[in-house]
Amino acid sequence: MDMFDDRRVVIQPLNKFWYLNKVASIDMLRLDLLHPVVSGNKWFKLRLNMNYALDNGFKTIVTFGGGYSNHLAATAYAAKKFNLASVGIVRGKYEVLTPTLEECQNQGMHLIFVTQEDYKNKEEPEWAKSLVAHFDEILIIPEGGANEKGRAGAGLISRFVHDSYSHIAVAVGTGTTLIGLRNKLKAHQNVMGFVPMKQGAYVGEHIAAHLQEDKNRNWELIDDWHFGGFGKWKPELITFMNEFYDVNNIPLDIVYTSKMMYGLNEMLKYNYFSTCDKILCIHSGGLQGNSSVKNELIYQ
Ligand SMILES: *Cc1c(COP(=O)(O)O)cnc(C)c1O
Repeated sequence: MDMFDDRRVVIQPLNKFWYLNKVASIDMLRLDLLHPVVSGNKWFKLRLNMNYALDNGFKTIVTFGGGYSNHLAATAYAAKKFNLASVGIVRGKYEVLTPTLEECQNQGMHLIFVTQEDYKNKEEPEWAKSLVAHFDEILIIPEGGANEKGRAGAGLISRFVHDSYSHIAVAVGTGTTLIGLRNKLKAHQNVMGFVPMKQGAYVGEHIAAHLQEDKNRNWELIDDWHFGGFGKWKPELITFMNEFYDVNNIPLDIVYTSKMMYGLNEMLKYNYFSTCDKILCIHSGGLQGNSSVKNELIYQ
């Protein structure tokens, strides 16, 4: 089977004990099962970009990310799979590589480290090109795969989402996945974006700017469960991840999906939903990022 075969994706009902009778049902869309590295939403955001690169004779994929970026790891892996060179422009200087960056390098990605300050130029193609002048035929993909093809690719996730779901919960970084989904789902479906950043509601501006006019409703951002900020966590989050695994046999990632499920669980407790709601939670993958907390988790 191809490593990116959609048939690996399943919808799994979540074990009832943790929400009792608060809603009609809660399921999880297991995009994490696509592949251990190129998993979840990352492959959807990359796939149309990769097709474009192959169809148009590009030889090198250039993209951006921090030391723990799932997008960098996924790009490194996918580029190698399609025999393209890859360059990762990394925010910050690392004396010692993070496990994610090591993985990128093992996949043949060439890493270029820039200061936090310089990284702010990431949206200027001329700046990026000057860093990779010695590579052939480069295609630049923005941080997080946040371009038109990334949004359209994320929209393909909607093919797994039945119209009967009233609420779709999705974790938000750049908002690309939420945009793609919101643009494709039915108007009556509520898209709830859980943001793992402190004061993460700022992403809303970017999201609103990219939604088709008639789809710019029935979505909201929830930024209450950031646990101190992006990439930060507290022992209660780990306890929750272990309990969730114990009950549902589903591993969550420390950066995105654990905070989403923790928040959703709290909202269920406080009767945010009605008893006829049907919720679909999107497992957007990211499990490679758990290597930094692997000693705390009962899985992997
Ligand atoms: C990257 C990532 C996200 C964020 O996706 P965006 O499209 O940037 O909003 C969510 N969940 C996981 C697991 C991710 O790796």
